[in-house]
Amino acid sequence: MDEKLSALKNSEQMLEGIGESLKRFGDSKELLQKVLDTIPQTVFWKDINLNYLGCNQLFAVLAGKSCPAELLGLDDFDLPWDRDEAEFYRACDRRVMESGQAEIGIIESQVNADGELTWLETNKVPLHNDGGEVIGILGTYHDITKLKRAEEILQRNNEELEKRVDERTRALAFVAHHDGLTGLANRLHFVQLLNKVLNANEQEQIALMFIDLDNFKPINDKDGHEAGDELLKQFANGLRSLLGPLDFAGRFGGDEFLCLFRNVKSQEYLEKICEEIRRQLNSEIKINGKTTIATASIGMVLCDSSEYENSDDLVNDADLAMYAAKGKGKSRYQFFDPSMRDSAQNELNEEKHIATGIIKNQFVLHYQPILNLAKRELVGFEALVRWQHPTRGLLYPDRFISTAESSGVIVPLGEQIIEIACRQLANWCRNQSNLPREFRMNINLSPRQLFEPDFVQSLRYTLSRFDIEPDSICLEITESLLLKDSGQAIQLLREIREEGIHLSLDDFGTGYSSLNYLDDLPVDSLKIDRSFVSKLDPEVGDHAIIRMIIALAETLNIGVVAEGVENEQQLKLLESMNCQFVQGYFFSRPMPVQESTQYLAQSQTAHETGI
Ligand code: C2E
Ligand code: CA
Ligand code: CA
Repeated sequence: MDEKLSALKNSEQMLEGIGESLKRFGDSKELLQKVLDTIPQTVFWKDINLNYLGCNQLFAVLAGKSCPAELLGLDDFDLPWDRDEAEFYRACDRRVMESGQAEIGIIESQVNADGELTWLETNKVPLHNDGGEVIGILGTYHDITKLKRAEEILQRNNEELEKRVDERTRALAFVAHHDGLTGLANRLHFVQLLNKVLNANEQEQIALMFIDLDNFKPINDKDGHEAGDELLKQFANGLRSLLGPLDFAGRFGGDEFLCLFRNVKSQEYLEKICEEIRRQLNSEIKINGKTTIATASIGMVLCDSSEYENSDDLVNDADLAMYAAKGKGKSRYQFFDPSMRDSAQNELNEEKHIATGIIKNQFVLHYQPILNLAKRELVGFEALVRWQHPTRGLLYPDRFISTAESSGVIVPLGEQIIEIACRQLANWCRNQSNLPREFRMNINLSPRQLFEPDFVQSLRYTLSRFDIEPDSICLEITESLLLKDSGQAIQLLREIREEGIHLSLDDFGTGYSSLNYLDDLPVDSLKIDRSFVSKLDPEVGDHAIIRMIIALAETLNIGVVAEGVENEQQLKLLESMNCQFVQGYFFSRPMPVQESTQYLAQSQTAHETGI
């Protein structure tokens, strides 16, 4: 501010100086004119009627004249600038004369004699006679066009920069709030939006939809990640097309999506949306030019927005409904009902219950014989877990294995099972003098166990503790184990196989992609699923699947076990097809330890006596 003031003062002093000189030099105007013509400022002066009294050479040229004398007596309307400019200058002149006050640093434009638009910074002071009366005006200016242009460029650059920063900020905000693949709101943003609706003052009927793709994993594994990504993108686009102006959708993670519908009028409306989602998944998704059939399980909560205080509870309830839908079979939808919270609670209780059962050693193993079909000789036992429940009696795996698997408590349970099976095998090896040479203990393994860090090491350690040859253990695995990370699963299985432990592929024929992986899986045998064996009937069919599985095993040079053989007819048919091993009620149900020990003893005697 001080600087500006002193600049103003300087300009004023200079102008006054020139004004004084004009008066003092009187007759020596020529000298003054010369001085004025040499300075880089443009100088002019006018009388009280705003007619030009004089100027320096610079001004004369800009005004299209060859010398200052040509300007005498002319006014601004006679000069090349246009009328508006002339008016503007004259208005300013009048102000200065009327007020008697100088005006410094006036920014004005001017189209000069060459037709160029220039920008000027002008200073004007009143001229006084000796009596102090205003008799005219003295003006000086200099061309600030370059400065102005530079300023304009700077301004434009600034605006451009601001725009770019703005766009970038918006893009960053979008990235932070949206899922990169589908462009839908991400989990965090969706929850923020949802909380806003729940905390708003107005009440409305809303519906939260929790969508989980049923078969994303197999598609992703089989057709590759790009195909999986494409499926998610197309699904998200389809979902977007179903939203009203106030509704919003988000990707909750992996293959899970959430949608919030606002001002929902009826349940039917939501049902229609579910149908539409099903239709889109069934017909509209094309990957690599091929139509892919995908399905989704949908859980919904239809409620008043004031019913829930926070998004967590609402999302949990929609999730419970989704699980209930999945539980009924895939490709279904289900509305939330509060009893679902109880069953979730039950599952949690059940999990705690199982954990207690493990600690209290309530789990026992029953053993079912596996026989060589041609020789009818015992080759091993499959260990099958049972829960000796203190109040509910003996529970079969169908009552607890799936909870154990989904909750993760299968890991400690599985460890205990391996421990019991190994201890029992060691016991038999010690006490049964003539145990068949290749006698093997088959143990069922859940995928979760395999992926436990150090699973292989801890297995090796258990075997060494009981002094068991790895060769006398066979782990039964299912293809579901390949669902998580098939590459890692295959690697882990190879490690197990390299230890000398056998591997058998259980429930073969029911998995989703048996043949795709079979070549890579280091298994020693296939177990034909019971469902195929139970259909074996000499009167019906050509039993193509079983024939094919047996032929496949032969080609791969691995063993084949038929499970669930219940009668002689089935056995005969399997024999005619050259099935190597059999297991089932026809020979024996799974038996508790004592019975199994007797069975072992008997089968040895039978073998020895050739019965
Ligand atoms: P799985 O591995 O396929 O076991 C064979 C099942 O078929 C057993 O049922 C067995 O009792 C039954 N079975 C055997 N022969 C016949 C037959 O001739 N007819 C009929 N109808 N059934 C027969 P279980 O013991 O109830 O086990 C069911 C499933 O639970 C097992 O199927 C397995 O997937 C799981 N499981 C059992 N024990 C364990 C275990 O120790 N660990 C793990 N992770 N899973 C286990
Ligand atoms: Ca099994
Ligand atoms: Ca099986």
